[in-house]
Amino acid sequence: MKDFLYQGMPSRVRFGRGTVSEVAAEVERLGCKRVLIVASVPEQAEQIRSLVGSACVGVFAGAVMHTPVEVTETALAHVHRLGADGVVALGGGSAIGLSKAIALHTDLPQLVIPTTYAGSEMTPILGQSERGVKTTQRSAKVLPETVIYDVDLTFSLPLTMSVSSGINAMAHAVEALYASDANPIIDTFAELGIAALFRSLPKLRDDLADPEVRVEALYGSWLSAICLASTSMGLHHKLCHTLGGALNLPHAETHAVVLPHALAYNASKIDKAMSVMKRAMGGGDPAGRIYDIAKNSGVPVGLRELGMKETDIDVVTSAVMAKPYPNPVPLDAQIIRRLIANAWGGTRPD
Ligand code: NAD
Repeated sequence: MKDFLYQGMPSRVRFGRGTVSEVAAEVERLGCKRVLIVASVPEQAEQIRSLVGSACVGVFAGAVMHTPVEVTETALAHVHRLGADGVVALGGGSAIGLSKAIALHTDLPQLVIPTTYAGSEMTPILGQSERGVKTTQRSAKVLPETVIYDVDLTFSLPLTMSVSSGINAMAHAVEALYASDANPIIDTFAELGIAALFRSLPKLRDDLADPEVRVEALYGSWLSAICLASTSMGLHHKLCHTLGGALNLPHAETHAVVLPHALAYNASKIDKAMSVMKRAMGGGDPAGRIYDIAKNSGVPVGLRELGMKETDIDVVTSAVMAKPYPNPVPLDAQIIRRLIANAWGGTRPD
């Protein structure tokens, strides 16, 4: 075994069914007496308001995708006006992103309750958008102190959002396997995460509220989120980041379209990662199999279905080529353009 560096992330995680009932006790454990609840929609915030009880001093249900700085400023005004001493976020990556942005400015403790498979809850990473440009930063300040995974809260996530969000999660584990700072601990999480997601996502078509399937999907997402937190992501994430920031494409759906193509691009130089993925999936070509999960569940497989214009293929190619970064296969403008064109059209990678 080669020498390696493993960076663990200090967070407290509760995982199970009905675990959201522990929210008041966990708020108290953080030492908070005046928390602001943040969410993307009022109904989600209201779901936990009564559980948090008298420690809730307000609700802000205006979180949106890609964490625009204007929304953060409005939420921060609520934090200061209410004298909040902590944040409780319930929802997908958008609600958690807002919570992290508040923590970046205030260093307030966060308790987050994810309801999608995006994985932001486990990372010290914050992505923010300002005037069409998305930037990311790493800071220990934004890592949530406590995470409550409650499987029951994921039953309501619609099929296409569940599967695209699950492929978004899988992308964290896939890219961790060939990261420049990969290590054996993360490889183990990645393989287990991919296997759990690969088994569970196709079964959601039959029953969105099958507890065993939802447990496995959320567990796989958690393991994959640990991979995202501890390694550096490659081409796939940079492409999605550019598509999300510049064209405001939806996060999970963009990941679901791009992953098979980014994986096919890197396949020739990632033998070890490919064999781990094949083992986790029980054989076959990983890129094609991920594409099939999306297609069979009715998830869009082309960027054009997400609203991207054909003329943007060149815009995105130039943006990706403008900022070089480590990737198993060096970036070549012509091949990157073909990758984006294939992802735009929605062809199955071969
Ligand atoms: P999201 O949070 O915007 O949620 C998508 C939609 O699903 C929303 O309409 C939301 O209200 C709804 N929803 C969420 N949970 C639901 C449930 N259980 N039932 C029914 N509806 C539900 O989308 P997302 O994909 O979870 O998160 C995307 C955001 O997260 C992006 O801004 C992305 O940059 C960020 N993100 C950050 C990191 C990180 O480490 N910094 C990691 C992953 C994602």
